[in-house]
Amino acid sequence: MIDGTGRPRFTGDVGIRDRLIVSLGEVDEAARETLDAAGLVVAPGFIDIHTHYDAQAFWDGSLSPSPLHGVTTVIGGNCGFSIAPLSEESGDYMMRMLARVEAMPLESLREGVPWNWRSFGEYLDCLEGGIGPNAGFLVGHSALRRYVMGARSDQPASPGDVDAMSALLSESLAAGGLGFSSSLAAAHADGDGNPVPSRAATPEEIVDLCRVVGAHPGTTLEFIASIGLFEESDMALMSDMSLAADRPLNWNVLVINGQTPENAARQLSAGDYARERGATVIALTPPMLMKLRINLRSGLLFDLLPGWGETMALPLDQRMKALAEPDTRRRLEASARDAGLISFVSDWPNVLVDETFEAKNEKLRGRTIGEIAAERGVSAFDALLDLALSEGLRTSFLPRAAGDDEASWKLRAELWNDDRLLLGGSDAGAHLDMIDTFTCSTSLLGECVRERGLMSLETAVAHLTTRPARLLGLRGRGRIEVGGCADITLFDPASVGPGEVHTRYDLPAGAGRLYAEATGIEHVLVGGVALVSGGRLTEARPGRVLRSGRDTQTVTNASLRRGNDERERSA
Ligand SMILES: [Zn+2]
Repeated sequence: MIDGTGRPRFTGDVGIRDRLIVSLGEVDEAARETLDAAGLVVAPGFIDIHTHYDAQAFWDGSLSPSPLHGVTTVIGGNCGFSIAPLSEESGDYMMRMLARVEAMPLESLREGVPWNWRSFGEYLDCLEGGIGPNAGFLVGHSALRRYVMGARSDQPASPGDVDAMSALLSESLAAGGLGFSSSLAAAHADGDGNPVPSRAATPEEIVDLCRVVGAHPGTTLEFIASIGLFEESDMALMSDMSLAADRPLNWNVLVINGQTPENAARQLSAGDYARERGATVIALTPPMLMKLRINLRSGLLFDLLPGWGETMALPLDQRMKALAEPDTRRRLEASARDAGLISFVSDWPNVLVDETFEAKNEKLRGRTIGEIAAERGVSAFDALLDLALSEGLRTSFLPRAAGDDEASWKLRAELWNDDRLLLGGSDAGAHLDMIDTFTCSTSLLGECVRERGLMSLETAVAHLTTRPARLLGLRGRGRIEVGGCADITLFDPASVGPGEVHTRYDLPAGAGRLYAEATGIEHVLVGGVALVSGGRLTEARPGRVLRSGRDTQTVTNASLRRGNDERERSA
């Protein structure tokens, strides 16, 4: 048993009754059902605080693939993109926005989600009884803004608008919303390619809304400031948000690269900046490489290359025409040369062909663009565009992941102990054609612990359980203890890891998504009920919709700091 606190493992029994752990150690009472865990680690269920399962919950209550990776509790509504509250008008807008900003297929959102609630409380009620893992949801700024301002949501808000948003946020938190989320990230565009509503907000509007959060027990803050390196104004805003609410703020996402250690240091200094002012700002960082599968059809990431925005915003047929023109190609190739933080995208010769969609291209899978270009006697950039154009821009490319070297892994292992960050940031449920960080729990246990020896299994389990539970104040979750919830993951430490990533066509309207099973995750219990049994999802839906104040306790800046000081003293 690894109980989530970080202390050494021990052997024992767990007794479960009425969703709770009722005994630990030697249990000799008769049981209706017994699970033999010999050879397995018994750990608290994993907690994933950054997901976008808000829509998927309607067509796939199991919230797959997360439970297959040991996850028993997820938080949605991140980055400003909750799908409640909803006005008569905002449903269509929110659907098209999610399709663009989080790459969820529009046809799946239309077909798989009823869009028939109004208030945040009604949305939560819709999910009650239908979900596998426990799920809590933040109230998203873009949803609030669209609800209140309608088609003016790309404009500055009037004092009346801010009052109306504050009232709506307050009502949503009272109904169980777990906190407030927002985004100013330049990459976040709506269905028409315009900035998402939260990006039109002033810092004052954002801080005003955070002040509302402070009036509600058991709430928290989540935010995306920018995609690049933080300016002082970003750090100041995050600190002000945390102070206004008197709650910790977590931001997404820190990428650690040993070639540019000063970048991680800069981003983490937002935590110091906050601490000096009595605020709490915590980075999320995935315990795995950020491998991004990208394609020219959705255009995500390509559209951030300097000088590419306009071409990538064209409708598909015009975009294909443009990408076939020699002049346009030369212009795009030249302007992509200095792409800063995303220069791995335009390292054309090292881009891997990940997935193809025409039989004639099948043999190109797994090869680099550089090899293909050499064979064809063309430039790497031309080879990439020719291939993509030959299959309607569907081709999935995998740029070489930044930071897959010894120095980077060493730096990660060091920084992961830092209390200015938290391991996480799976983004599960979003960017369905692009990322596989939904395996971050099994990647941590398999690759980082067993294969690379970067930390003990006990520490890794604490990262997946106690640490996120403490940040959010989740009651009775994150540890194995008498009186706690019987959310339990049983895994084989010798084989736990992510399975192979592949496209699976199981979304509503037949759309596809990246998917991976896990190895070694044997059983996952939520409230004592098996959600995964023998490595497979069951039909059970034992998850609770988590409501602020009832399922969470208040975590203030001071209480979090006190907890950290106490742990330091006892260590
Ligand atoms: Zn997100």
